[in-house]
Amino acid sequence: MFEPFWKEVGDDATVKISGWEKMSYTSSCDDDICWFLEPEFANEVARLHRIVNNAATDGRYIIVGVGSTQMIHATLHALASIELRHPVNVVSAAPYYSMYPGIVDLMKSGLYHWAGDAAAFRGDDNFIELVCSPNNPDGTIRHAILGKEAGKRVHDMAYYWPHYSPMRGPADHDIMLFTLSKATGHAGTRIGWALVKNKEVAREMAKFITLNTIGVSKDSQVRAATILKVISDGYEFPKPNGAPQFFHFGQHKLAYRWRRLRRAVQESGQFILPRFSPEFCEFFKEYAETYPGFAWLRCEDQKINDCEDFFKRINVLTRSGKHFGFDE
Ligand code: PMP
Repeated sequence: MFEPFWKEVGDDATVKISGWEKMSYTSSCDDDICWFLEPEFANEVARLHRIVNNAATDGRYIIVGVGSTQMIHATLHALASIELRHPVNVVSAAPYYSMYPGIVDLMKSGLYHWAGDAAAFRGDDNFIELVCSPNNPDGTIRHAILGKEAGKRVHDMAYYWPHYSPMRGPADHDIMLFTLSKATGHAGTRIGWALVKNKEVAREMAKFITLNTIGVSKDSQVRAATILKVISDGYEFPKPNGAPQFFHFGQHKLAYRWRRLRRAVQESGQFILPRFSPEFCEFFKEYAETYPGFAWLRCEDQKINDCEDFFKRINVLTRSGKHFGFDE
């Protein structure tokens, strides 16, 4: 989706790493918590958050991971390790990101396990709530739904960027997860990061990543730093020739696709898409629409029981609602 933007940027986003560079496991920085964090990557992460103003970074620890997928594993491990009662119940309000149940139960950890829809959770305060906002799959802005005083929360903010959703000021949660995959489109670089308030939690997360993958590819972090820098430079030092700026490009692209999708859905008369009201975007400084990177489509036609199967037969690949804690 964003490839044409990066093609147009050309050499400014090209990375060259010589054969002798970044070879060893050795520490990338003096950071005694996340020893494998490349300083230029950390600087560009903090810089972009400052420019977009979507998340507080002051006084936070930045932990880098192999995509936000590894960050989710690291976070669950860290939070559950410092908890005394096990297994900790991991929940998320349906419809939730379809990979959460599989990620949570993959390790068959004695420390935590998947406990389903947060709205149906009837346990005590021994839980971790995964709060995805804007939410995959329905694009809504989410807040934790279980008691604020008890339990723990992880905010998956993969889509809290201006091309997808109006910016409502800096988020300030205890643990916030982001990923290059959704921010810039570079899913294959496998870089995610967490902004973490608590030092002990940050240390446990870094420990998980040390034992799981002995750090995170330095090459990928360097590439990610370059990509993030191009986006920030585009806003801090706009080119006189009116070169495209990333979030503007992304928003236009998504708006175009959503227009077409809404038209097709309306013409079919069989389906319903979520509706979003325009909201003031602190980044674009104007009212902006919500354009999720995916569509949560509900079928109105009584004759269609299994949407995924219906779409497959007309060569459209979808994911059934049942994977998101809903029905077919
Ligand atoms: N969280 C959410 C909400 C996602 O949609 C995705 C990707 N689909 C991820 C996490 C994982 O992304 P990655 O591992 O590529 O960072």
